[in-house]
Amino acid sequence: MKDFDFVIIGGGCAGLSLAYELEINNKLKNKTLAIIEPRNEYKKDKTWSFWKTYSHNFEDCVKKNWKYFSINIPQKTKHLECDSFPYQTIDSGLFYEKINNKLKQNKNIYFYKNDQNIDLENSLVFNSVPNLNDQNNGLWQHFCGVEIETKKDFFDEKIMNLMDFDCEQRGSVHFFYTLPYSKKTALIETTWLSEMKDSSQKDYDKQIKEYIENSLNLKDYKITYKEEGAIPLFYPINQKIKNKIDIGTAGGMTRLSTGYTFLNIQEQSKYIRENIENISKLKTFQIKKKYQFLDNIFLKVLKNNPSKMPNIFFRMFNNKSNTVIKFLSNRSNLFEDLSIILKMPKWIFVKALF
Ligand SMILES: Cc1cc2nc3c(=O)[nH]c(=O)nc-3n(C[C@H](O)[C@H](O)[C@H](O)COP(=O)(O)OP(=O)(O)OC[C@H]3O[C@@H](n4cnc5c(N)ncnc54)[C@H](O)[C@@H]3O)c2cc1C
Repeated sequence: MKDFDFVIIGGGCAGLSLAYELEINNKLKNKTLAIIEPRNEYKKDKTWSFWKTYSHNFEDCVKKNWKYFSINIPQKTKHLECDSFPYQTIDSGLFYEKINNKLKQNKNIYFYKNDQNIDLENSLVFNSVPNLNDQNNGLWQHFCGVEIETKKDFFDEKIMNLMDFDCEQRGSVHFFYTLPYSKKTALIETTWLSEMKDSSQKDYDKQIKEYIENSLNLKDYKITYKEEGAIPLFYPINQKIKNKIDIGTAGGMTRLSTGYTFLNIQEQSKYIRENIENISKLKTFQIKKKYQFLDNIFLKVLKNNPSKMPNIFFRMFNNKSNTVIKFLSNRSNLFEDLSIILKMPKWIFVKALF
């Protein structure tokens, strides 16, 4: 059995972000690190997007920035600006390549497919594999997206569409999300917020085809990439062990009301790097309790009133867009929180408190 100063279980977004943050800040000079990752090869498998409210190490992996976005419900559209916090999209393929190229240069970093020969008890372990069993009643954000290419100019590449609720809801919460990379290319995603018990929601290919051909009225296009995923909108319950720190989704880095996780992972990595010498003695890094509390109420409302959610999301954007962006990105002050809360329908939110 080999022991290491640090072991990272799972070389995905959180595991690699942490390893990179430690490496570029010289925290691995005289230390050994093992990364355990079962996948055989790294290729683009996700597109990470967020409002840039926090600086990160991966500007060179950004595929596109938008300064404008829109949100739709049937018959109504809001056009909003996000100049101060541009909406960014990161290509996971570029992210994996950049990090792995850097990490491979350090002879103190070892890569393993499993933990068979690793002494996990005598190393400081950062775990990014969530335990998602026994959470059958939890809500999920599940989705499928395709990148498409058109022959003729079609998209307005300056404005991304955050949520288009003008589509079938099927008793749940459903919207489309469109990121136009250029006039001829875009990522189009069908997204559901539900308990995932109803597998009939998963006819994603049909939903996307109908949306592109009938709602967008685009007939001549080809699909160049596809991604599918499900983000738990609940905190995984991982076994607590003294020398283990959970990171990423496993470490509660998902904002439950939105599914946004990427920037929280970057902030968590920085916190760990800044405190690496005594990290096991410190409080674990968490999304602020006020957001955990408010998101819990929000998800209760969502579960009990799915048909009201398109309007609720739309009303939220009656605030200044910076206020909503800061709130959804865990960076709002009390005044901004109040401003969001006051725009919500009072009675169903009060009922969700009890
Ligand atoms: C398709 C998709 C799109 C997303 N888009 C966004 C977005 O736009 N914006 C945003 O903020 N968030 C997004 N998320 C949410 C979140 O940012 C990602 O899920 C992110 O990858 C979470 O990072 P992670 O390291 O916790 O998990 P992962 O990136 O999934 O990494 C976990 C790693 O553990 C490995 N592993 C699995 N089992 C084991 C095992 N037994 N032992 C060792 N390793 C193991 C896996 O192979 C994987 O590499 C998205 C999620 C998905 C699935």
